[in-house]
Amino acid sequence: MPGLLVSIRRSLLVLVFAPCATLRAQQPAPIDWNKLRDETVQVLADYLRINTTNPPGNELQTALYLKRILDREGIPAQILDTAELKPAGRANLYARFKGNGTKKAIALVHHMDVVPSDVKYWSVDPFAGSIKDGYVWGRGALDMKGEGIAHLMAMIALKRSGVPLNRDIVFIANADEELDGAGAITFVERHPDLLKDVEYLITEGGDNKFENGKLAYYGVGIAEKRTFWQHVTVHGTPSHGSRPTNKNPVPRLVAALDRIAKYETPLHVTPGVDKYFRDISRGYAGDEKQWLSNVSVALNNPAARAWILSDVYWNAILRNTISLTGLHGSNKTNVIPAEASADIDIRLLPDADPKEFLATLQGVVADTAVQFSQLLEAKAPLESPIETEFFHAIERAAHDRDPNAFVTTPMLTGATDRPSYRKLGIVTYGFDPFKVEVADAQRGVHGNDERLSIENVGFGVHYLYDVLRYAQGTRVTP
Ligand SMILES: [Zn+2]
Repeated sequence: MPGLLVSIRRSLLVLVFAPCATLRAQQPAPIDWNKLRDETVQVLADYLRINTTNPPGNELQTALYLKRILDREGIPAQILDTAELKPAGRANLYARFKGNGTKKAIALVHHMDVVPSDVKYWSVDPFAGSIKDGYVWGRGALDMKGEGIAHLMAMIALKRSGVPLNRDIVFIANADEELDGAGAITFVERHPDLLKDVEYLITEGGDNKFENGKLAYYGVGIAEKRTFWQHVTVHGTPSHGSRPTNKNPVPRLVAALDRIAKYETPLHVTPGVDKYFRDISRGYAGDEKQWLSNVSVALNNPAARAWILSDVYWNAILRNTISLTGLHGSNKTNVIPAEASADIDIRLLPDADPKEFLATLQGVVADTAVQFSQLLEAKAPLESPIETEFFHAIERAAHDRDPNAFVTTPMLTGATDRPSYRKLGIVTYGFDPFKVEVADAQRGVHGNDERLSIENVGFGVHYLYDVLRYAQGTRVTP
């Protein structure tokens, strides 16, 4: 990585505003936000140049990169779990910038791995760290190296400016979120001591809705669906397809799947989802506004119900969902197979009981020859409280920027590493400091030409800096 050290050195030249220590303790030093933005862009571009496509991950290289920066800034950092994470070349990173310890810590968590990229669909090399047309381009710019570098630079800015901190700032970079979540799982298992004083944690899983240059809302993820994937199998007797038999497992499986496909899961409104609908209702008029402002009541009205459930996202946050996905029977047209099976993608609401749901599903199928086996262990449920100092800090920093904007709580239908941390009792939020155009996010996240605007880099670092500052509580003057 020849460009790497050169540009870190270049970025360090920018940091020449640190006043003497005594003065700094009393009065926060002013930050040159344009310089910080430009420095952050360079740090992000270099980070994107390190290829951490998972598999295999290779996150030790990104961990070393982050550690070099933290060392230089005087923030103690450790590279962890290199022996436990497989295959070789993987790591988690942990750093802590200490405050005065009067309140509990805040953790900023991101994953260093990225999903594969198909170069032929990209207009730039996904690992070149290109900076052009006002954007930083590369796999991971949005998911989630961009957020990781915003975490890093906001923490560094707090240190450089000497803002007095009541809460330590913990910085964690994990391996392997995109496949098995082994990085976060290993970290939580092996180092609960490093997390025991952490009260709040932010990571991916909250999206600000920004469309055609207009902000609809700031979104904080307080809850996510739980994956509860099932493999369904029917056994039979293999024979020749020319002589049909009732021992063929395929029609029996198909009948079971048909019953599952026709089954409508009950609707259920969780507190965060209720708030989300109430919040967004202000953007609607007439009946729609009224329905959204009390969605539990509206779901009893057939017209309202049909309209609400026609939105695939709204439907998914109001119920446990079932998608029939994989299907396996014979691989030869003339052979009745010994076994037929299907994979089912089930996503449960945070307060649903997996055992109870499975029993319901078995009742729907009503055929004991159909066997269910769980493909993944269901993660811990995630639903974090809203009335907290940290949530209010986000609201305050958001209102500074957009006085008319509201902060709401859309539920994530996908999965993140948050449940691994939530298990320890940490209040865990999905928080994205950027205002990414919906079209950019749809194209780039796990897609092609992933990019983050330079303007957003500057916006995000400043926004997060303010959130962290406000979350220190009343003893810190803004
Ligand atoms: Zn991600």
